Amino acid sequence: MSTFKDLGLNDDLLQAITDLGFTRPSEVQEKAIPILLNSEIDLVALAQTGTGKTAAFGFPMLQKIDVDSRTTQGLILSPTRELCLQITNEMKQYGKYCKGLNVVAIYGGASITEQAKEIKRGAQIIVATPGRMKDMINRRLVDISKIEYSVLDEADEMLNMGFKEDITSILSHTPDDKSTWLFSATMPREVAAIAKDFMYDPQEITVGRKNEGSTQVSHEYYLVNARDRYQALKRLADANPDIFSVVFCRTKRDTQKVAERLIEDGYNAGALHGDLSQNQRDLVMKSFRNKQIQMLVATDVAARGIDVDDITHVINYQLPDEIETYTHRSGRTGRAGKTGVSMVIVSKSEVRKIKGIERIIKKQFAKKEIPSGMEICEVQLMSLAKKVHNTEVNHDIDTYLGDINALFEDTSKDELIKKFFSVEFSRFYNYYKKALDLNISASNDDNRDVGDSVRYFINVGKKDGFDWMSLKDFLREVLELGKDDVFKVEAKDTFSFFNTEKELQEKVLGFFTDFKYNGRYVNVEISENRGRSRKRGKSRDRKRRDEKNFSSGKKGGRRGDGKSKSRRSGSGDFGSSRPRRSRR
Ligand code: ADP
Ligand code: MG
Repeated sequence: MSTFKDLGLNDDLLQAITDLGFTRPSEVQEKAIPILLNSEIDLVALAQTGTGKTAAFGFPMLQKIDVDSRTTQGLILSPTRELCLQITNEMKQYGKYCKGLNVVAIYGGASITEQAKEIKRGAQIIVATPGRMKDMINRRLVDISKIEYSVLDEADEMLNMGFKEDITSILSHTPDDKSTWLFSATMPREVAAIAKDFMYDPQEITVGRKNEGSTQVSHEYYLVNARDRYQALKRLADANPDIFSVVFCRTKRDTQKVAERLIEDGYNAGALHGDLSQNQRDLVMKSFRNKQIQMLVATDVAARGIDVDDITHVINYQLPDEIETYTHRSGRTGRAGKTGVSMVIVSKSEVRKIKGIERIIKKQFAKKEIPSGMEICEVQLMSLAKKVHNTEVNHDIDTYLGDINALFEDTSKDELIKKFFSVEFSRFYNYYKKALDLNISASNDDNRDVGDSVRYFINVGKKDGFDWMSLKDFLREVLELGKDDVFKVEAKDTFSFFNTEKELQEKVLGFFTDFKYNGRYVNVEISENRGRSRKRGKSRDRKRRDEKNFSSGKKGGRRGDGKSKSRRSGSGDFGSSRPRRSRR
């Protein structure tokens, strides 16, 4: 195994590396650094998150640029503002002994004039998000025509986020003879296409392919009813008092809701998603880094690239639409040599996705049980006892000791301990003493098919321009559902049918109580079509009537008795309010 010195790094960098406490190069660093130092080639490097990619391109770039010149020589593109700032910060630390070095971050949501000013002072290296970079090029606030090295960091994610055009446009302003280094966790077709279009005969290195997920991460899943998702999340948090976690949700709305509920219930939680202002996002990230937030509820995009090392748990509150995304999520934990746990809360209808994920990460999930109320009480009690035991005594209390002693004159030590603990603990106990078992059995999963789901009638169809595919997309979008949540979609002329799992029934019916499409009310009812589903649907006559009204352009299909079917609730996951947990 080589040292950083063996890789050919100069003394300025080695000194900084010592300061940072890096003892050994990581695998991707060991492979990439010598190549990048010793040749002027293009490189594609595939390695999971947390493997030290920043230094793998950062060290060579710092060593190769001329710090005595003020020309911009290196450009690093990264998908998000958070990541951009992170990389800038790392580069500054790596290059702290490179005298005259100036690394500037370019990203949206901050003053463009300030950034332009910084560039003007002479930046050898620019770290940028594609959108703002393109903007600055168009306004001629930055000159990248003499770039020698360009890095596409998290290339897969940049393409996922739709930056392909921006990247193309940016690269068209760079010289042809520069070197391009592409770093990515995965190699989807789009990334391969970028490598083909913009790189010249790139050398490829791959790290940890045999085992895509980090070996430091164990994977667990918990099977519960969809309506118990939130309760299950709380129990997982309560069973791990020192949890420091990222909780992933599928949509911005759910992210916000889950975070709000957790805060209401007394947890140190925060939300991170794209609807927040940059300022709000910065604040949340700051609190998370400081551990004031123990549970960061986030969307995939917002959490991407966050580099916080001691995350103990990743909780998949909902599985991602694309199961490939799971690798990115679980890569948030088990970083920098630490171990971590990636937990998935699944309902019956999703449990088969676990198999697919296992295939991708090439690791097995352990099926675990949501802890019972009493197990949680035990964990909490012992955690509290340890905390008391390890607490440093505050001697300002000494003055009151006489009075307090007098009060407890007749209380034995055991009794005192019990009383003392009851103060903090009883609330927990009372909440959990009657708690139900949230686990459900997967035993009848195998016969889960159409028969297990609900079929709906909807009064839009081909006449409204839908075919089965576009209707499926439409339903998924308005209902904010996942890829497989709507199925058996059948588009007829003026009406259609579709299925969802039973647990989504309330959400579907609730949503379509007052929803208009092209100015007309959309009516959704449980269908008796094929006699598969519950006998709660309206009669066929009613359907025909709606259908007629609808196609004749009248305001038809509005369910007059909207409340008869379901309450209007956004999602069944956030049911009744629950006792508050004490703030700690
Ligand atoms: P990636 O970009 O692959 O997700 P990062 O470059 O963000 O990974 O590195 C992850 C963490 O590991 C960072 O905190 C970084 O400072 C640290 N790190 C990088 N290289 C080393 C090393 N050789 N030894 C110890 N820690 C390292
Ligand atoms: Mg990175």
